[in-house]
Amino acid sequence: MNKQGTTGRIDRINIAIDGPAGAGKSTIARMVANKLQYIYVDTGAMYRAVTWLMLKEGISADNDEKVLQMSQQMVIELKPHENGQMVLLNGEDITPYIRSHEVSSAVSRYAQIEGLRTYLVNLQRQMAMHKGVVMDGRDIGTTVLPDAEVKIFLTASVKERALRRYKQLGEAEGVSLEQLEMDIARRDSLDEKREVSPLRRAEDAIELDTTQMTIQQVVDTILSYCISRMDGE
Ligand code: C5P
Repeated sequence: MNKQGTTGRIDRINIAIDGPAGAGKSTIARMVANKLQYIYVDTGAMYRAVTWLMLKEGISADNDEKVLQMSQQMVIELKPHENGQMVLLNGEDITPYIRSHEVSSAVSRYAQIEGLRTYLVNLQRQMAMHKGVVMDGRDIGTTVLPDAEVKIFLTASVKERALRRYKQLGEAEGVSLEQLEMDIARRDSLDEKREVSPLRRAEDAIELDTTQMTIQQVVDTILSYCISRMDGE
């Protein structure tokens, strides 16, 4: 039986993918979206775009009001791109900057600001209004899309997640594996302990520990859950 209480097939569903930093959410969410021809929304990129601008403008995360006011004036666009997703801020392509070590270290502090979260959560809900969206983040299954038909909580050991990030950017940025491991553990802790929509597995989410899984195995597992939900199971 599906959520509407009928046994019919559902054409389009929403898929929420949450989990800690470096669990592979964005790669996996993008692949699932490609396969289903759905829209992929990387909510972390939105928090990163805000953080990038605040660091550039020298606005501290303690200045809640200013952060919110500036965020409400900015136009964030997420556009599909062959190498992932392009992030435009007021028309400027800021994709290369938002995954820097500097932004990664600061983002969880800005993401604690309640007003900013409310504002971004509303934007994210609008993006998913017509279904057919794969959205990844920390609070998608619990807060942004509590009615998503499929909810996945991706995890992996801190060591494995640090190693993945190291391969992705650590070498290029001259950041050591140990440093990345510490940064990830600190970010997890800030994301799990914050008061407003902390990182938490939704009760009805399926938890997948990806430490020993290949990307393709994770994608195939998620797709099989999606297909069974669409079939009304
Ligand atoms: O997913 P990513 O690692 O790019 O997210 C960067 C940061 O943005 C997270 O560590 C978290 O602090 C914040 N975030 C959040 N809620 C989301 C997505 C990201 O608080 N839905």
